[in-house]
Amino acid sequence: MSDEELQPTTDMETLVSLCKRRGFVFQSSEIYGGLQGAWDYGPLGVEMVNNIKRAWWRANVQERDDVVGIDAAILMHPMVWKASGHVDTFSDPMVDCRNCKGRFRADELSSDVCPTCGQKGQFTEPRMFNLMLRTFLGPVQDEAATVYLRPETAQGIFVNFENVQTTTRKKLPFGIAQIGKAFRNEITPRNFIFRVREFEAMEIEYFCRPEDSLRLHQEWMEERRRWYARFGLRMDRLRLRAHRQDELSHYSSATSDFEYLFPIGWGELEGVAHRGDFDLTQHAKHSGKALTYFDEERGEHIVPHVIEPALGVGRCMLAFLADSYAEEIDEKGEKRVVLRLHPAIAPIKVAVLPLSRNEKLSPTARDIYARLRKHWMTQYDDAQSIGRRYRRQDEIGTPLCVTVDFQTVEEDQAVTIRE
Ligand code: ATP
Repeated sequence: MSDEELQPTTDMETLVSLCKRRGFVFQSSEIYGGLQGAWDYGPLGVEMVNNIKRAWWRANVQERDDVVGIDAAILMHPMVWKASGHVDTFSDPMVDCRNCKGRFRADELSSDVCPTCGQKGQFTEPRMFNLMLRTFLGPVQDEAATVYLRPETAQGIFVNFENVQTTTRKKLPFGIAQIGKAFRNEITPRNFIFRVREFEAMEIEYFCRPEDSLRLHQEWMEERRRWYARFGLRMDRLRLRAHRQDELSHYSSATSDFEYLFPIGWGELEGVAHRGDFDLTQHAKHSGKALTYFDEERGEHIVPHVIEPALGVGRCMLAFLADSYAEEIDEKGEKRVVLRLHPAIAPIKVAVLPLSRNEKLSPTARDIYARLRKHWMTQYDDAQSIGRRYRRQDEIGTPLCVTVDFQTVEEDQAVTIRE
């Protein structure tokens, strides 16, 4: 089947409503009408987010001996953003509709017809709008006190290149991984957790010899595809798209995006960028520190090139949610929602369900619950019919349900496990 014939598993409204109903994601500050571009992760959402981060960290740091992790501060010296090019070029072109006052990203408009009011030819000339969020450090709110909330975690890695290299004594090629919050003052935050103003990023800067960089760029793309496959993402809904020359970021000589068939259509899930030696060279120039690597084989100092796989945790969660979503009709003709999440990603691993709320069953069921909880996120549910409780677990992707019945307590101590 071609990409064009494939359909998303569901629409965004259905996912938003499931996420709210079951406590995955809530609108930020909802009781005050919400804040655009900010979302809160509820009890199930935070588990899923943690599972995604753990799965990424495990594959990219724990299981590799050529990648180490760091956790840099969100606030950085303002010179970082001057050197990285973000102050001057991290901007999107913005236009306003003179008729309805709607505001849009010019590069996302396909014609001169306003998507909100339908009027033609009402857009202002595009103005460049810097996406970095600014704040002030200390009591005086002037230019000298201005700092930025980082728009990517990458720069925390580049400025620590020397620290990490000397303390770990890693030889090229090696990578530094980081998971952390990033902020972008997006012109049009929308599509639920797909495009937000505050998000968590998972990024690796993989440093290598210039002559190995093209090969390693390819290898990282393959590695990242294997990661998605390992956690059950359907491969026909994931595709790689190389950036055109005019799309490339200011730092990149080549970038490919993994795109996923989200409920809104194909959209970027992860970028795998070839950043060349741009960042280390810029920071060396602006800080006056030599950010080089001594290549023992050649007996010379070189500036490593960098490959960067980078994705947002929320966007990744949206892909896993959409990918695992299915609606089925049961024997009674009722609709049942099932999330077929990989067990490592599922928020709850086991549900303990006594056949009914009965004083004979409860002690055994509670004892099993207490024992399982030490190892996995476990839920105990004895409210309503057993069929309903199974459906509740199906809807949140719980891989295992343990049912305790009278036979368990009266005869064999055996439980029924449903996968
Ligand atoms: P776009 O062109 O869609 O604005 P980008 O190309 O600027 O995105 P990158 O800088 O490559 O995005 O960011 C790497 C990854 O971080 C993206 O693939 C995405 O998963 C995530 N990401 C970036 N911006 C956002 C955002 N505003 N909300 C949620 N996730 C984001």
